[in-house]
Amino acid sequence: MVNIKTYAYGFPRIGKNREYKKITEKFWAGKITKEDLGKGLHEIEKSMKNTYAENVDGYPTNEMTMYDKMLDTAIMVGLYNPNTDDDYFKLCRGENALEMTKWFNTNYHYLVPDFSKFNGDFKYNINYLPTTENPHFIGPFTFLKLSKGIDNFEDYALSLVKVYRDMLSGYDTVHIDEPAFVMDLKPVEVFLIKKIYDIVCDNNTTINLFTYYEDVDWLRNLVYDLPVNGVGLDFVNGKNNFRNVISVGFSKDKTLFAGLVDGRNVWRTNTRDAVNKLNKLSKFTDKIVVTNAGPLYHLPITLKGETHLSHFLYQHLSFATEKLEELNDIKNKDHSKFSVYVGDWNNKVKDRVGNLKDDDFVKSLDVTERRKLQDKILNLPELPTTTIGSFPQTKDVRLNRLDYKKGRIDTLEYNENIRKFIREALYIQEKIGMDVLVHGESERSDMVEYFCQRLDGISSLDNGWIISYGTRVYRPSIIHGDVSRSKPMTINEIAYAQSLTDKPVKGMLTGAVTIMAWDYVRKDIPIDQVAYQIALSLQDEIREYGKVGIKMVQVDEPAFREMMPIKKRYHNEYFDWAIKSFNLTTNTNPRTQIHSHMCYSEFNEIVEQINKLDFDVISIECSRSGGEIIEAFEKIDFKRQIGLGVWDIHSPAIPSKDDMVKILKRALKVIPRSQFWINPDCGLKTRGWKETKESMKNMVEARLEVLNN
Ligand code: GLN
Ligand code: ZN
Repeated sequence: MVNIKTYAYGFPRIGKNREYKKITEKFWAGKITKEDLGKGLHEIEKSMKNTYAENVDGYPTNEMTMYDKMLDTAIMVGLYNPNTDDDYFKLCRGENALEMTKWFNTNYHYLVPDFSKFNGDFKYNINYLPTTENPHFIGPFTFLKLSKGIDNFEDYALSLVKVYRDMLSGYDTVHIDEPAFVMDLKPVEVFLIKKIYDIVCDNNTTINLFTYYEDVDWLRNLVYDLPVNGVGLDFVNGKNNFRNVISVGFSKDKTLFAGLVDGRNVWRTNTRDAVNKLNKLSKFTDKIVVTNAGPLYHLPITLKGETHLSHFLYQHLSFATEKLEELNDIKNKDHSKFSVYVGDWNNKVKDRVGNLKDDDFVKSLDVTERRKLQDKILNLPELPTTTIGSFPQTKDVRLNRLDYKKGRIDTLEYNENIRKFIREALYIQEKIGMDVLVHGESERSDMVEYFCQRLDGISSLDNGWIISYGTRVYRPSIIHGDVSRSKPMTINEIAYAQSLTDKPVKGMLTGAVTIMAWDYVRKDIPIDQVAYQIALSLQDEIREYGKVGIKMVQVDEPAFREMMPIKKRYHNEYFDWAIKSFNLTTNTNPRTQIHSHMCYSEFNEIVEQINKLDFDVISIECSRSGGEIIEAFEKIDFKRQIGLGVWDIHSPAIPSKDDMVKILKRALKVIPRSQFWINPDCGLKTRGWKETKESMKNMVEARLEVLNN
């Protein structure tokens, strides 16, 4: 009889009550000492360890970080040498912080190690080496693959791995994450990986290597050629991994860490199916360990304490702690807790989606014809100025929400306060001379959760926080039933704003793809159906805007790229429904001008797909991708209007008129004036009013200067 064990990794490091966020931010504010911070982090780590120990046979240590594990790795191998905690945090935030980008196709963001000024001399930093057993490391290949500024990858890799070899030789067993193994890799890269691990493994350490998020194309090499002790495979999101193991087999002398429990979604594991898979896999190796398929930090810590979910839904969910229990169920071949989940059914919604025709995704007029129509209605000046939606979330704005939530003020008073914020925002924009106005989003704490709380079929969580980056946390909702909109979600606020001005006010919605990317999506119906249900709900909202005199609507899709699969061959399938969901959402009256907004991500590579989104105007972040994005748009037949962010809102610095004129002139060399808008990079929610007003003024003046030249 095979003795099957359980193993888990990547448990959330946020703390049961968001302690990680609280203590770190207190340290930043100078309210606690370095020792307090260290103690606090240690407590969280202890509690992670206890949860592991109560539930599974094995787990890694050293998963905690002060901010980000990619940065820690960079420090560990000598790329950066911070002497103090303050120095460490300077690499994370503030003026000279490292660039931040998305970790694979997740909503976690890591700091990007920059090798452009590195002297090539890797040295391990003894102070940063863990002293615990089975420590976790990011593997050398993934580390370098996700870094930037590397000219000769192979040279760097081969000198880096010697450091890894020495570093690891002090441990009995180590846990190494190599998610980059699931990327599209060239044969030379696979060959290099073999060279890398021949060196890394040249010690007496037991090395277990984990891959996740998708399947590994070169499974045979991975399983038979790398001299590691164990290999972790994702059998949930790695579509072909299971089939491939069945066909190429598994090395007799290696341990298979079988990822059978989803680390990225909240649904209970189909333990019956998992046990079946486990039985089949056991035929190839008797060294088999049941584990999660991908790190668990994409999930909230525990379901316990979620009091607002229906009993039925609750029974079908499983967060990080409950996933550990599932590993045990699979090991014990117990599938009594599993029953098939079927979300709330809504016949009207089902019929509407079922009856969609190709035409429903295609607007009756193309962008050029729409432009003629809209220009007459809107009568906008050349190079119109606008902002992206939110205005500073001041103390008063937050207090209003909190007071209402705590029952200290009633609905009437709450709404009256929102109206006051709208009036103030409108007054400021009018006075400064903006052309297209926004209402400021003071009623929204979060651009996704706000809609989730208003749509049927989606439930929000009480305590389900996860880390997006550093100490920034958010609470995904759960899309669990057919989604519909029973009443208007944003009309009152936008209509009120429009009633105060003759200038156009933009309606403001979050698109279906972003709602799905930042939430947990049901799996009992196909994903495109979920997208179209949300799209139709949003479409209804846009139609209603038309009825109350709103002439333009912005559908934000900052996460448009986020759910894109890692490997190219899966892209088309994704973009097909993602693009259609946007076009369905916005297929209303051609007289309503459709805007979209995107940020947070490298969009250069997917401008062709972006151009298939049939909007009239897009505002897109360009401060981080710099000029590249302009050039990318130049290469395609782009007939739409575009606003490139001339003001980087991620910093409190006020951009001068001259700064903006420079960016404008550069952009106008590529994009015709008649197609161009002037706007900041993103929403102004995190800024203060003082710098916001100044910067808006400079923006308006920059516009005048460019016009008069
Ligand atoms: N309309 C949103 C805002 O201005 C867009 C935010 C975003 O793109 N992340 O806040
Ligand atoms: Zn944005």
